[in-house]
Amino acid sequence: MPGERYSRNEALFGVEGQRKIAATRVAILGLGGLGSHIAQQLAYLGVASYALIDQDVVTESSLNRLIGAVDADIEAKTEKVKVAKRMIEAINPAADAKALCAKLDASEAETLISEADVVFACLDRDLARLQATVLCSRYAKPCFDLASDTGEEDDQPWYGGRVIFCDGSRCLVCLGLLDQEEMRRESKTPAQREAHERIYGVRQGALAGTGPMVVSVNGVVASIAITEFMVLRTGMRELHSYLIYHGAQQVIRHSLDTPESGCYYCDGTWGSALGEGAARPSLIEIGVEQLLGVGKQAWLDGPALLGS
Ligand SMILES: [Zn+2]
Repeated sequence: MPGERYSRNEALFGVEGQRKIAATRVAILGLGGLGSHIAQQLAYLGVASYALIDQDVVTESSLNRLIGAVDADIEAKTEKVKVAKRMIEAINPAADAKALCAKLDASEAETLISEADVVFACLDRDLARLQATVLCSRYAKPCFDLASDTGEEDDQPWYGGRVIFCDGSRCLVCLGLLDQEEMRRESKTPAQREAHERIYGVRQGALAGTGPMVVSVNGVVASIAITEFMVLRTGMRELHSYLIYHGAQQVIRHSLDTPESGCYYCDGTWGSALGEGAARPSLIEIGVEQLLGVGKQAWLDGPALLGS
């Protein structure tokens, strides 16, 4: 490690803290508006080992917020994971960044997550968030889940986001944060989806990925997560496990929401793939209804989930 490069970091959390950060293997799921900020900040913080997973390429509409992307990436259709890898290696040529352009249900994605120490889930759809929850639970991987959001409240524009540290004591499922309608819709084939929408219509909120997204809001949410990651690795203070950024008021608050007990992922499958001969059902085999734990979690809507 170069002598001067991290001296200002070490002034805050010490040489040992810097060593712990450098030794952390991270996986970043989603390298879009949030994940690209995470990759950049981790590179400056001194993390040396990365697994980058995202299925998308750079498009013109992502150039308002994709950190590291340049104009030429639009025509080249550069994979977002390649943009992040290029940026990380430009900041730190000694870094090892594995780039996987694939969905989370690819077996390579599962392997990469199983090899990480800390996961950052920077996803914009709830089905992908559930898949991340399943995989992190299976391998007992602590995961920072990030989300930014925009909307309207009392006729005023609302924007902000949240960062949740999922470590087997809470996750998105037992905090009740996953939109079951959206996940059910995403789990359908295009033909099934079309038939469903013809009959039931499309709820505007279900059209994830098309809403407003601004670089500065993503930057705040990512910075909150990176600061908590720094705290986690260095032990500077106690970690804040659920933080909400209210953009209109420019305040960050602790959420007082508590997880439901008896969570299938926190209490049931946590660490289930670790150890000799552990079962490893694949995401493809089990399907979304089982992912949701129908029949196992009374606090979800149960069989009603299968109704449409
Ligand atoms: Zn849970």
